[in-house]
Amino acid sequence: MFKALVIEKDDAGYRAGVQQVDEAALPDGEVLVRVEYSTINYKDGLAITGKSPVVRKFPLHAGIDFAGTVEASEDARFKAGDRVVLNGWGVGETHSGGLAQKARVKADWLVPLPEGLTTRQAMAIGTAGYTAMLCVLALERHGLAPGMGDVLVTGANGGVGSVAITLLAGLGHRVVASTGRTGEAAHLQALGAAEVMDRAELSAPGKPLGKERWAAVVDSVGSHTLANACAQTRYGGAVAACGLAQGLDFPASVAPFILRGITLYGIDSVMAKPSVRMPAWERLARDLDLAKLDALTTEIGLDEAVQAGTDILAGRVRGRLVVDVNR
Ligand code: NDP
Repeated sequence: MFKALVIEKDDAGYRAGVQQVDEAALPDGEVLVRVEYSTINYKDGLAITGKSPVVRKFPLHAGIDFAGTVEASEDARFKAGDRVVLNGWGVGETHSGGLAQKARVKADWLVPLPEGLTTRQAMAIGTAGYTAMLCVLALERHGLAPGMGDVLVTGANGGVGSVAITLLAGLGHRVVASTGRTGEAAHLQALGAAEVMDRAELSAPGKPLGKERWAAVVDSVGSHTLANACAQTRYGGAVAACGLAQGLDFPASVAPFILRGITLYGIDSVMAKPSVRMPAWERLARDLDLAKLDALTTEIGLDEAVQAGTDILAGRVRGRLVVDVNR
C-alpha cells in the first residue's frame, strides 16, 4: 500500500483526495518507479478541481509529472536504481500519475534524469519548465540569438513564464516580463527580467498591427495577449505559443504573418517525441541557473496538493510548486 492523490467521479460527484492505495491496482507498464517528487502544473489544477475534462479515466492518480528511482523494470533500457523523469504522455489524464508514492508506466515514456539534476530540481522544472525550454529551442531554431532585441515572456509569474525568463536571461537575451502581478517586479528582475510590464497592456482586443517591439515571444496565455504579441513582433520574428491561461481563443488577423513575415510556433510537450524531450532536458541541466530555480520554487507535501490545485487556477501560485510525495 502507498499514498496517492486519487481523483474519483461517480454518482457522488467529482472529488480528489489523498488515500492509501494498493500497488496491484496500478496500470500496466514495464517500469515501476518509486516517486520522490511531483509538481502542480496548471493542468494538474484543472485535473484536481475537475474544471476541465483533463482526467478521462476514474479512479486515477493525479499528476502529469514525476521524478524518482526505478524499483523494477521489464525493459532493458532501465534497471532498479536508475533515476528517471516523466512528463505528459497522458499520465495523470488517462494513466495513473505522479502525485503518488509509486507509478507504473511504459518505458518509452521515461527520460533518464540528466547528470547534474536532482529529482527535486527535475520537478521544480516539471512540465512547465520543460515546456519553457521547448519554446526557447523553437525560437533558437528560428534564428533567435542574444542581442537581436527584446524577448517578451507572458504569464511571467507562472511556471512556464518564470522558467522562460530565467532561461532566456541566462542565455543573454533582454527579457521583458508581462504580468498581472506587478508587485512581484523585484522577483521577476531577480530572475533576469530587464523590464516588467502590466499584462493589461496586452490582454484587451488590439489592432491587427502594432509598433514592432519583440524579436521573439514566449506566450503561455493565449487569447488577445497572443494576438497582440504577434501584432507587435518585429519583421521576421517568431512567437512560441504554449498556453491558454487567458483563453483558448486566438482573436488575431493575418496581418503580422503576411506583412511582417512573422512565424507562430505551436509548442506541445505532452506527446513530444523522445528525440525532442531528451535534448530539452539536457539543455535544462546545462543552461538553467539552479539557484534561480530554487528561488522560484515552493515545496509542499502531498496533503497540500488539492488546495494547490485550486490556488494555481486562481493565479495565486508564484513560480513553481514542487510536491514531496513522501512528506
Ligand atoms: P501557471 O498558472 O503557473 O501560470 C499561468 C500564468 O498566466 C499566471 O501565473 C498568470 O501570470 C498568467 N495568467 C493567468 N490568468 C491570466 C489571464 N486571465 N490573463 C492573462 N494572464 C493570465 O501555469 P503554467 O505556467 O503551469 O502553465 C501556463 C499555461 O501553459 C497554461 O495554460 C498551461 O495549460 C499551458 N501549458 C501548456 C503546455 C504544452 O505542452 N503546450 C505545457 C505546460 C503548460 P501573471 O500572474 O504573471 O500575470
